[in-house]
Amino acid sequence: MIRNYDKLIFEISKEGREGYSLPKNEFKEQYCPCALPANLKREAAPQLPQVTEFDVVRHYTNLSNKNFGVDTGFYPLGSCTMKYNPRINEEISSLPAFNLHPATPDDAAQGALEVYYNLAASLAEISGLSAFTLNPYAGAHGELTGLMIMRSYHAQRGDHKRTKVIVPDSAHGTNPASAAVCGLEIVEVKSTANGTVDVEDLKPLLDDTVAGIMMTNPNTLGIFETEIPEISRLVHEAGGLLYYDGANLNAVLGKCRPGDMGFDIMHINLHKTFSTPHGGGGPGDGPVGVRAGLEHLLPNPQVKKSDCGKFYLDCDEKSAGNVSNFLGNFGVILRAYTYILTLGRENVKMVGPLAVLNANYVKESLKEYYLLPIEGVCKHEFVFDGLVDKSTGVTTLDIAKRLLDYGYHAPTIYFPLLFHQSIMIEPTETESKETLDEFISVMKTVAREAKENPDVVKNAPYSTPVRRLDETTAARSPKTTYRQLVAE
Ligand SMILES: *Cc1c(COP(=O)(O)O)cnc(C)c1O
Repeated sequence: MIRNYDKLIFEISKEGREGYSLPKNEFKEQYCPCALPANLKREAAPQLPQVTEFDVVRHYTNLSNKNFGVDTGFYPLGSCTMKYNPRINEEISSLPAFNLHPATPDDAAQGALEVYYNLAASLAEISGLSAFTLNPYAGAHGELTGLMIMRSYHAQRGDHKRTKVIVPDSAHGTNPASAAVCGLEIVEVKSTANGTVDVEDLKPLLDDTVAGIMMTNPNTLGIFETEIPEISRLVHEAGGLLYYDGANLNAVLGKCRPGDMGFDIMHINLHKTFSTPHGGGGPGDGPVGVRAGLEHLLPNPQVKKSDCGKFYLDCDEKSAGNVSNFLGNFGVILRAYTYILTLGRENVKMVGPLAVLNANYVKESLKEYYLLPIEGVCKHEFVFDGLVDKSTGVTTLDIAKRLLDYGYHAPTIYFPLLFHQSIMIEPTETESKETLDEFISVMKTVAREAKENPDVVKNAPYSTPVRRLDETTAARSPKTTYRQLVAE
């Protein structure tokens, strides 16, 4: 039986029920927004559901229980780095002292500006670059910012014909998307059978119309790009810049630095590498760093420190532009800063090795059952190409759905596009051996089911609030209002 509070909130509405009432407006006309022009005022009251506060509490609490998060279970979503988010990060980011209006004058926001300045300095040290902006709101926004810097670099040198950006075929979809938004033309470079950028394929692409190359390292296959020194030499010789997509920085944290590898510009996803809850697409923050000589191109405003230790906002007229209204997602900045300080210099160096150990442990334990297209040591994540035994027709989608019945979030599926049945697994460094062993055992069970009773896997899931959805329609034409739903 469907309980009353499991229904849509509009369906349980009862004329006259109230959960909350606003105090009577005691202000005179001139003090209230009644000064709105008549054509902007409502003629009728909004048609909100009429429900009690208790109805609303139960409705949303039950909805939230249908959700799956990193705090409810193992979440091996490749590329997304769903690691543990320490509670102290939340505590610090909710301190009332940091609850500032974004337009607070510099003088009254010295503490917040100091956090911004210090985090930018830590990221510069971690990545081997010269300076960072924390203004972009996400990784993809960081990519756009970085490409704007690349474009401005060439434009300010009068080198206007550089309109192409080289992107590997294994790149995350945001790379070519950001390049397109930035008005650059995308040229694809192929990967070798080992999954790394093919230097021989790259060479003929390099000419005086190339603005630069975007590389992800470790790449989206979880593989370290070993040819970077050669690629760096070739691209720089051709007059281009090297952009580092740092979404996977997790894997090399404390081991090596993009700046030392020859990269000129990079972004970091604070919400991945430096732990912030980021399910469902946000919130995030995508700091962008540049090597020495490019600092003036960072977006405005920039946080600077005067000789007497005062923090202030500065604008450079040569900047590549403004990318956000204020100084990034400050709540995420606070969490990342807390995370770095609580780990400390020594433990930050353990993040990469542990992420790599966990990924290799899961990979080696399962490769007998799941097809491993690229052998060898991976970094923080790896990709299977479906089951080894494909004779029963069980697909990657079926496996992902079956995992939900066992209480696990599905890995990333059908990405990267290099294989037909990609299953991309990233366990992260914060999972225990016990959790990994349980997951390995469930993955083996699913592989066994696929062989012995394939229909069970093909019809999964059975235990979720909804079964298989038409995911294309759900993504392309979502019904987001009650009116759209009842219009059916
Ligand atoms: C997540 C990711 C991005 C995009 O970052 P967002 O913060 O989601 O915008 C870009 N590149 C790679 C490799 C990623 O994993």
